[in-house]
Amino acid sequence: HLTLPQPNIAGTPDALQHAPSLQEQMVPQNGQRHSNGNGAMEASTSGRNIGVSIELRNVEFGYQPGRPVLKGVNLKVEPGQSCAVVGPSGSGKSTLLRLLVRLYDVQGGAVLLDGIDVRDLQQGSLRGAVAVVPQDTVLFADTVKRNILYGRPSASDEDIDQAAEMAQLKPVIAGMRDGYGTLVGERGLKLSGGEKQRVAIARAFLRQPRLLICDEATSALDTATEQGIMASLEELAQGRTSVFVAHRLSTVQKCDKIFVMQAGKVVEAGTHEELLRAGHVYRDMWTAQAQADEEHAACIPEHMEA
Ligand code: ATP
Repeated sequence: HLTLPQPNIAGTPDALQHAPSLQEQMVPQNGQRHSNGNGAMEASTSGRNIGVSIELRNVEFGYQPGRPVLKGVNLKVEPGQSCAVVGPSGSGKSTLLRLLVRLYDVQGGAVLLDGIDVRDLQQGSLRGAVAVVPQDTVLFADTVKRNILYGRPSASDEDIDQAAEMAQLKPVIAGMRDGYGTLVGERGLKLSGGEKQRVAIARAFLRQPRLLICDEATSALDTATEQGIMASLEELAQGRTSVFVAHRLSTVQKCDKIFVMQAGKVVEAGTHEELLRAGHVYRDMWTAQAQADEEHAACIPEHMEA
């Protein structure tokens, strides 16, 4: 039921170059093509960058009347940039993601993708442009193959295999009794948190999105699994715009831009180095996490260390 043409799965520079820009794909509800005149379209069609620009303008939102959650959020992300949203629990990070994919509408201000207010976009256009790797991936009681296919039901076996490869799922599948035909999910093989995230990454890869959104799992994965998953996500994010909600700052150090949220507002923005140098909220969060990691490491008996 997607209304947008999907680019070639191959993910080769060629396939990406010929993928239509989001502005070409995103059709406002009145059916007219939209031009924001700020050059974003040129940027998104040149080279391998098929990303979309994001802008939140003075966004206000609350789930219940009188209880604001986002209180005038402003942020800008250029096409193809990777960004992270960090901040204490309850500061509004996941809420911000929900507004990006229009699970809810803003109550004040606007969310713009490629300069277009998301409220003016056809739902199909928005859905076709975005892939989400959620905190907790839901697996259907079906084969692992059909679970991956959910990302793009028309994908070929070759596409699925490539997506599995990219998500580093192939060794996992190779170890399953019936390979791609293995039943997973409820009443099937239970996959670990890391394996389920890999299925979500494979689904996202099949979609070839212009905007990749990742809500980091709150439950800690072991360091090696976390690093492997981040490597796959970073590869998938190449040439696209990506937004990571992160609890562990170590996972988003390399992002082009980090937005620090506190009590429903973006209070700081910059690269990891810039924010450390600024010496405010982010630097305090970083120091606190490093300290907690050290204390945690000190608690692990020597014989259990890798
Ligand atoms: P965490 O790091 O714990 O995931 P967060 O920064 O992502 O937190 P949100 O999940 O966006 O924070 O929540 C922001 C505020 O909105 C919190 O006070 C939360 O209780 C509230 N909230 C979130 N989802 C809902 C909902 N569906 N209905 C009502 N209130 C909600």
